[in-house]
Amino acid sequence: MIDPLPNRQQTTAVFGSFVLDGRAEVPTVIRDHWVILEGDKVAAISPSRPKAADVVLDKPGRFILPGLMNLHNHCFSEAIARSHAEDGNGVTADQSVVYTVLLPLSKSGLDILSSQERLAVARMGIVQLLLGGATSVMEPFRNGIPEMFDAALELGIRFWGAPYLFSASDPHAENGKVVYNTQSSDRSDNAADLAAWNTLYETWQGRDNSRIGLAMSPHATDTCDPDLFRAATERARELGVPITTHLAQSASEVEKIKSRWNGRTPAEYLDWLGVLGPDLLAAHCVFCTDEDLALLRARDVTVMSCPRVFTRIAKIAAFGRFEAAGLRTMVGTDGYNMDLLGELNAAAIISKTASGNPKIATAPVLLQSVTSAGGNAVGRSDLGRLVPGAKADITVVDMTHPHLLPYMDPMRALITLANRAQIDSVIVDGRLLVSGGKICVGDQSRIMAEGCAAIEKIWDLPEARAALSKT
Ligand SMILES: [Zn+2]
Repeated sequence: MIDPLPNRQQTTAVFGSFVLDGRAEVPTVIRDHWVILEGDKVAAISPSRPKAADVVLDKPGRFILPGLMNLHNHCFSEAIARSHAEDGNGVTADQSVVYTVLLPLSKSGLDILSSQERLAVARMGIVQLLLGGATSVMEPFRNGIPEMFDAALELGIRFWGAPYLFSASDPHAENGKVVYNTQSSDRSDNAADLAAWNTLYETWQGRDNSRIGLAMSPHATDTCDPDLFRAATERARELGVPITTHLAQSASEVEKIKSRWNGRTPAEYLDWLGVLGPDLLAAHCVFCTDEDLALLRARDVTVMSCPRVFTRIAKIAAFGRFEAAGLRTMVGTDGYNMDLLGELNAAAIISKTASGNPKIATAPVLLQSVTSAGGNAVGRSDLGRLVPGAKADITVVDMTHPHLLPYMDPMRALITLANRAQIDSVIVDGRLLVSGGKICVGDQSRIMAEGCAAIEKIWDLPEARAALSKT
């Protein structure tokens, strides 16, 4: 259904009225330059129009950014909850929607969808990510949807697939409590999950010019036991792949870890197991104490802050809190709304109002959080920076859109006025994937229709109807 990606052996020249130039120590906005891509690399940033190029994007008013990195997202599980858990709907007895809807229904959904249907959901998510301006994604997902890799391969995004490992694969809410079923027949086997991860690693790691890779992904502190965390961490460090997990994302998780592990907080639990380190991307951390944040900082952990999804439970997930603690912090979308520029705007608003300080979560810091901070988080100096020799991943924003005009400062305009509606072009590994705000690989409307049909099939399940009818 989807045509093969275009050949990478070509030159692309993009004119920017504004270019976030990474050649200086601190990325700076320069005016009226060409960014020239050759094959999979940035070849030059030049004031002169190149003599020849296979693809030329020449329109005034564009802002050329290093490819935006969205390193915490869930295409599948969040699609199941879309628009359900808003306005307090479906959140009962203070239970996180993680346990009432996301984990239970993503599990049942995978049991009933065919491989083609799962691929349809995966394609829909990747399209949304690209249209949201992301060139890179780290995507934790349940093992039952390996089609995430196929969709990433065919649609061209840079992809760290992060298939989950679980010790308790079926945590769910029951009578106002989270039940883990660790003794039930569906208890996951640590070794089996790690073996499944290893098989996917053998199949996918390094595919298509190393555009596709894996991250180690023990699901969360309350769903993975010490043996699994230790084994997963050891394997990831042996292979040099990033590790990602959910950390302190709900009050019930914190309580569970304290009661199980001698009063430890989730961050202390991971430190006890040797998981904390510069290769760990820890998602959310909103229920971390200040002491926990100091511990994460001491271990040089990256925090993935996803502010919008927490408004569902009226919980402040302020980027600025992690910034103030000195942590390398990125903004991700958590699958909730894959509009990365919009998420940066939310991060700014929430951080400033929560702290009473308008000088934190500034436009340069937030832009850095989805560019160079991302490259640093995954140990890749060739990502998240516009410099000659870097990967040819760029995100181009149309700053002439009526939503934005007029503006004095393009970088601040980007954060305060823009969102995904102004994403003009997305190029990954030298390939043009979004042009004029539309996907140019695959049939966008067909991909969306097929993805929605698969999700609606899950919504029709009796257990889904029961869960989704709860208010
Ligand atoms: Zn998540």
